Amino acid sequence: MFQAFLIKYAEIAIKGKNRNIFEDALLKQIRRSLKDIDGSFNVFKTRGRVHVEADGPFDYDGALEKLQKVFGITSICPVKVLEDEGFEKLTDEIISYVDEVYADKNFSFKMHARRARKDYPIESMDMNARVGEKLLEKFPTLTVDVHDPEVMINVEIREKIFIYSIIYPGAGGMPIGTGGKAMVLLSGGIDSPVAAHMIAKRGVVLNAVYFHAPPYTSDRARQKVVDLASQVSNYAGAIWLHVVNFTEIQKYIYEKCPHEELTIIMRRYMMRIAEQIAEKTDCQALVTGESIGQVASQTISSLTVTNEVCSMPVFRPLIGFDKQEIIERAEKIGTFETSILPFEDCCTIWVAKHPVTHPDAKRIRRHELFLNDEIDRMVADAVEGRIIMKVDGDDVKTVGVEI
Ligand code: ATP
Ligand code: MG
Repeated sequence: MFQAFLIKYAEIAIKGKNRNIFEDALLKQIRRSLKDIDGSFNVFKTRGRVHVEADGPFDYDGALEKLQKVFGITSICPVKVLEDEGFEKLTDEIISYVDEVYADKNFSFKMHARRARKDYPIESMDMNARVGEKLLEKFPTLTVDVHDPEVMINVEIREKIFIYSIIYPGAGGMPIGTGGKAMVLLSGGIDSPVAAHMIAKRGVVLNAVYFHAPPYTSDRARQKVVDLASQVSNYAGAIWLHVVNFTEIQKYIYEKCPHEELTIIMRRYMMRIAEQIAEKTDCQALVTGESIGQVASQTISSLTVTNEVCSMPVFRPLIGFDKQEIIERAEKIGTFETSILPFEDCCTIWVAKHPVTHPDAKRIRRHELFLNDEIDRMVADAVEGRIIMKVDGDDVKTVGVEI
């Protein structure tokens, strides 16, 4: 019965000349989200709202599901669209709308009619009273509550007539493309996909880097990261995923440096490599899934020592979250099930029995000198030899190996 959606966004979030940028980005993201849905859609804006109108039959559930993942939308209302065939016909249509949409008719309602075209012969207040009365007559279990109704029945008289009353929550945030571009360090764990989602929610285009260590980490572990990127891209739009071979570097650090400092030194190299790739791809910040105290390498001292190798800002949106809160978010965005698949992670393969929890930056810097120039060559090779994939929902393409 629905032929359109009315899309609402938080006008308060956009001021002045940002408004056009916001709205254009939102239209673009809505069109992108619907590109694989059966049906043809007309997406356009009017004052303070966006309209999605289907040209003929379309996959309603599919479209709604996609729209609910578009950042920048606060709510989505499915709309029944009618031709203007007189007030009596309209009243009948509203009655049949209520009948169809609400199986259980025990609720309070308020009629809310608006005339965008003032040549419509009946005034809004009059229309509310007359339609309201008919509804009560037809469905005696309904009640009217003009202050706090359970259901607001909206009728908008334009060229055509719109009826809507259902409100689905949108994903919130800002449309992708309005917030710059960032590089996420994406592992196969629970945290980093959630961190990626949170940054994308602020309108940021994502690139991602994954460090793998074949043959110590398997193709399946890597596929898991591709799957996670694909799930995040359902919200974030296409993600360029850079797969970096970290084996040689990890082994070399293991060989040359004190084992209790292995994790921290390895993490410093991950950050350095991520930053180099971020610079090449015009990303303005790095993003990780770290949260204070979660593991030995995430004490404030460890985070500080890892951080010092980067000059780009490093965003850690989960920094103050408990694991349980992160898990709840992972479940909500649909990454949890994939994250808990039991494949090895390159960080855990060579972990020391007693890793340092309060590393001393000077000591770490001194020990990194054992790695001499050789490490720079390895880093350059790792960056140049990375595999680049474009991940856009189920559409995954290897777009190149840069040598
Ligand atoms: P996650 O659940 O995101 O894997 P974690 O709790 O396992 O996090 P760590 O292993 O200490 O924590 O990793 C901290 C952060 O470092 C991760 O959130 C991620 O951003 C990054 N990271 C760790 N391992 C990798 C990897 N193999 N490739 C890319 N990034 C990684
Ligand atoms: Mg991890």
